[in-house]
Amino acid sequence: MNLRTFKKGVRPSEFKEFTDGKSIEILPLPNEVFIPVQQHIGAPCKPVVEKGMDVKTGQIIATAGGFVSSLIHATISGKVKAIESFPHPLGGQGLMIQIVSDGKDEWIDTGEDNPKVRDWEKLSKDEIITAIQNAGIVGMGGAAFPLHVKLSPPKGKTIDTFILNGCECEPFLTADHRMMLEQTDDVVLGVRLIMKALGAEKAIIGIEANKPDAIEKITKAIVPFPNITVQPLKVKYPQGAEKMLIKAALDRNVPAGGLPMDVNVVVNNVGTAIAVTDAVMRKRPVIERVVTVTGKGIREPKNVLARIGTPFQNLIDFCGGLTEDAAKVLMGGPMMGVTQHTLAVPVIKATSGIVCLTFESVVEKTEYPCIQCGACIRVCPMDLMPTRLARFAQNCKWDEAEKFGIVNCIECGSCAFVCPSNIPLVQRIRIGKLKVNEIRRKQKTAEKVESI
Ligand code: SF4
Ligand code: SF4
Repeated sequence: MNLRTFKKGVRPSEFKEFTDGKSIEILPLPNEVFIPVQQHIGAPCKPVVEKGMDVKTGQIIATAGGFVSSLIHATISGKVKAIESFPHPLGGQGLMIQIVSDGKDEWIDTGEDNPKVRDWEKLSKDEIITAIQNAGIVGMGGAAFPLHVKLSPPKGKTIDTFILNGCECEPFLTADHRMMLEQTDDVVLGVRLIMKALGAEKAIIGIEANKPDAIEKITKAIVPFPNITVQPLKVKYPQGAEKMLIKAALDRNVPAGGLPMDVNVVVNNVGTAIAVTDAVMRKRPVIERVVTVTGKGIREPKNVLARIGTPFQNLIDFCGGLTEDAAKVLMGGPMMGVTQHTLAVPVIKATSGIVCLTFESVVEKTEYPCIQCGACIRVCPMDLMPTRLARFAQNCKWDEAEKFGIVNCIECGSCAFVCPSNIPLVQRIRIGKLKVNEIRRKQKTAEKVESI
């Protein structure tokens, strides 16, 4: 197999065996859901329902707060019980719409015609993008950027290649792998729809070599479409990061501070492609997603199709509950996931996994001084100097941190993973990045005010 990759990166243990052979199971309808109005990068949505109102599945319950925003739909039918703050899986509290189920899962009338006869090839690029916008699709690989924005590059930018990200390089997670196996035709159709929306001449489906069954199945499914190819990739982290994937698949370098569209590329993940097929062919908005519930801390690891807004606790119960030695629950994988402090948090559009770790794997490690071994520099896929950046951030040296490119860090955690001194490099760099971005924003605002 011709395996391509990017330079540097790390090889954490995969732990995919817990769930990679397990078919997706449908989670029973929850009794209630908590749907955050902010599930995407960009402006939060504004609720358009009120407490006490009856809603149907698929009904718009919050509208976009700007162009870089994405509609939110009811994911079950029932009554709005509250619109208030609840614990958010990305940290802290967030405004959510709580719906109590009527047990009927009654859908709003979408004016659907027979999906089998929908001739999508006659749809214009704008009609596809509108269907995507109406369905509230965001990048479902974790970044949650509104898809209609990504598919509408500014004037002067053209996209020649669409890359479907089938890497799923985070340890433990297998949702994308299972979707490629079980919903192959929807994945391929999603790729073709996105290509049409972008006007892209070709598409590459990048899949890591640890999913040979998915490589085989997708390769067979794309035979009729010579402008789509499958590119097997070396198993390495963070292979699924956009910039690394573009380098591996096309040997193009996204400039520092730039976006994939600067090298004429758009990248999206597998769940997003399926959501596009659902939106265009079935007029179905994003009301559910596949979540890998896994780790040594869960009794029966599974891949679960869950309604957005379902509390984590429901998924944990469906998988037999936590083990006695469970110590930590993450949303996402162990490299970039977010630690949860309560299982009352809901599944959001970006919840790719719920990883449950045991005491054995979460022992607090003592931090030692840097021994200047250079390991963090050798693995950083963005060619940064993590040891310096972390030191600048710790000592509030924001100008130096910016000069050494802190904002280019993709927060992959590879540096912290290899550090023999257990220095929380990525955590310190993340804080530094936030601070530098805040300073930049304030400077820009001040410059604007001065120029008025
Ligand atoms: S500095 Fe950032 S990009 Fe580089 S390895 Fe660390 S977390 Fe990843
Ligand atoms: S890996 Fe850790 S010990 Fe080695 S240079 Fe980087 S920060 Fe220092």
